[in-house]
Amino acid sequence: MKDYKLLIDLHKTAARQGPGGEIETKTAIKMARLDRSRHLKIADIGCGTGASTLLLAQELNASITAVDFLPEFLDVLQSKARLHGVAHKITPLACSMDSLPFSDKEFDTIWSEGAIYNMGFEAGISSWKRFLKPGGMIIVSEITWLSSTRPPDLQAYWEKEYPEIDTASSKIGILERHGYSPEAYFVLPKHCWIENYYRPMQNRFVDFLHRNGQSEQAKAIVDAEKNEIAMYEKYNVYYSYGFYVAKKLEA
Ligand code: SAH
Repeated sequence: MKDYKLLIDLHKTAARQGPGGEIETKTAIKMARLDRSRHLKIADIGCGTGASTLLLAQELNASITAVDFLPEFLDVLQSKARLHGVAHKITPLACSMDSLPFSDKEFDTIWSEGAIYNMGFEAGISSWKRFLKPGGMIIVSEITWLSSTRPPDLQAYWEKEYPEIDTASSKIGILERHGYSPEAYFVLPKHCWIENYYRPMQNRFVDFLHRNGQSEQAKAIVDAEKNEIAMYEKYNVYYSYGFYVAKKLEA
């Protein structure tokens, strides 16, 4: 397995490990029309240090299984959950998203922000489906092209990083083909990338490099992040994260 020590070091003190925002998580809760009067069983997959998990716990009457394959992130999530008085609603699970130990029809809702790309959108939504009750909701955010064409260097960059990057119409088609009924889609605004994710990360670069003795590996990580940020700053009209809200069909 790859050595994640440096990535953990760079990201574990962050509020979030990917683009997103509280207002946007709340918008998705509304669009999914999650029933606040009923006790819900929710899995938050690729939860990181819990940006969405904590909000779901605060907003809903729910038991949430918080899944991430990095226990270091789950430890941070648990401390935050205790601080916010919601630890009793959250069960951390250190496990890879492609080998989840869940039972069929165990969950009312599957949530995943900025993480499904790790196994691929189609593989994720298709393999997680059996864990949802019929009529259950899946809410995922996924990097998405905002138009049908884009500059070739941008296309080449993201196809190398994540070949499944595509338009919303394609992603919605994949949901339909796998037995979901798409109910809502919206795009993360720019501040979810810049103010909520990239700026705080940039502010950690100097200390990160210092802590790691200016090592070549640490520098390579910072350079890759800087490259991704430069791409976003130049080309953010062409891509963002899309939030997808879909219902597992009863049939
Ligand atoms: N949902 C969080 C984190 C997004 S970053 C947020 O929005 O802030 C993606 C997360 O997926 C990271 O925490 C990473 O550790 C986790 N991850 C990556 N590959 C994974 C895998 N195979 N199984 C489970 N989690 C994984």
